[in-house]
Amino acid sequence: MPNQFRFFIIRLPFMRTNGMAIFPFLFVKYKKPSKVLINHERIHFRQQIELLIFPFYLCYILEYLIHRLNGKSSNQAYMNISFEREAYANDNNLAYLKKRKVWSFWKYLFNYNL
Ligand SMILES: [Zn+2]
Repeated sequence: MPNQFRFFIIRLPFMRTNGMAIFPFLFVKYKKPSKVLINHERIHFRQQIELLIFPFYLCYILEYLIHRLNGKSSNQAYMNISFEREAYANDNNLAYLKKRKVWSFWKYLFNYNL
């Protein structure tokens, strides 16, 4: 898996979140997004590529819905999605993607913060 791949940053000031990765586009709310935010979204790009893009979104939405059905609030459900848990756990480590193993999000799938 290459560490560097090309993506395009597009600013959407009206977005509700600070960043959103939809390969190969990174949508950001503010000018000059932080390195941590870029790293977070690059982790999502890697996850998306590993799942061949479309299945990522399917899994992401399914996981969110399962958490909601289990009584989690919208924010709790979002924070418990395995892809988000991997990204939030490692986005401060700017070297994370250099050492990350393929499909590392699996580690977070059955290990929820309940
Ligand atoms: Zn995220």
